[in-house]
Amino acid sequence: MRRRLAEALQARRRDGALRRRPVVDTPSGRELVIDGRRLLAFASNDYLGLANDPRVADAFRQGIDRWGSGSAAAHLITGHTRAHQALEEELAEFTGREAALLFSTGYMANLGTIQALTGRGDLVLEDRLNHASLLDGALLSGARLQRYAHADTQDLARRLQRAGDRPALVVSDGVFSMDGDIAPVAELAAMTRQHDAWLMIDDAHGLGVLGPEGRGTTAGLTEAEVPVLVGTLGKAFGTAGAFVAGSRELVEYLVNFARSAIYTTAMPAALAEATRKALELARSEDWRRERLNELTRQFRHGAAELGLPLLPSTSPIQPLVTGSNTRAVALQLALRAGGIHVVAVRPPTVPEGSARLRITFSAAHEPADVERLLEALDRAWSGLPED
Ligand SMILES: *Cc1c(COP(=O)(O)O)cnc(C)c1O
Repeated sequence: MRRRLAEALQARRRDGALRRRPVVDTPSGRELVIDGRRLLAFASNDYLGLANDPRVADAFRQGIDRWGSGSAAAHLITGHTRAHQALEEELAEFTGREAALLFSTGYMANLGTIQALTGRGDLVLEDRLNHASLLDGALLSGARLQRYAHADTQDLARRLQRAGDRPALVVSDGVFSMDGDIAPVAELAAMTRQHDAWLMIDDAHGLGVLGPEGRGTTAGLTEAEVPVLVGTLGKAFGTAGAFVAGSRELVEYLVNFARSAIYTTAMPAALAEATRKALELARSEDWRRERLNELTRQFRHGAAELGLPLLPSTSPIQPLVTGSNTRAVALQLALRAGGIHVVAVRPPTVPEGSARLRITFSAAHEPADVERLLEALDRAWSGLPED
């Protein structure tokens, strides 16, 4: 076993793909102190700038005064407090669904939901660029997993046709986490209904960020069109956890069959209280979404003028594909020398040969920050080694 670990780590090192965790000494914000250095950061998923909002922190503290630190049991035992119940009801109302069910993380929501909904003999059809947790859920379920070409509804239609009467679940990110583009959700909804299949959308990067009140990529689509909607609470909402929204029947089914919701301790009630406040702010403070849009537009405009190769993303996720791992890491280091923190994302998180800088914006940023990023990118990009 030890030889196996050493060899695997050596191979990662050789490929320039070894990962490490930078140590951060500051709360989420435009600037972070990372490994002892103060850097302007474009790397978090704190899109609305709520992760360090004082009103959310106050709700968290009051939650602790009211409920204590821990929930002390699973939801089915005594861990499901009035605070969890209220948050679920508010999430259901927010997403226009009958009901919602909390999970401790998005990873667990996806694992538990796909595993509960499908099994041997079923087909799970997933977009090739779906989040790892969605793929892992399908593998865990024992269903047959097929990956269709990215956002390609024709490829999906052919596969649904071939599936015939076999029960099928179609699964897609709403906003793709490493590319920033948006799934053709309305087409997916129409197509799955036509083939009598079910659609599951994981809107981890859409909820809070896109659509009226931040209702995400499925805003305006009904429960019948998108029967399984997943949201995470650790991104735009700035806290932690996740939920699945859908019919009352779906939620009751998951309460009974989703193992990752059953065999685990409920999130602290104080966290549910903090998230209720974050949800209220995310919905009502439109200026955060407007600011985010302006920063994203400013970046895309500036990057196009500099001739940087942008992907077709209109979300605050703006990747810069470098190709090789070496170039991605070189770019990250060059920016860091200029006081800017952006993270190189490498395979297997993204497909081979498509290493990239994953640049993200937050409502906490200012236009001058984007200007500084563009200037640093201009300098660093021209100095990059060839592949
Ligand atoms: C981040 C993410 C998850 C996982 O959510 P966590 O709450 O961080 O575990 C799931 N799906 C997508 C698309 C994500 O980007």
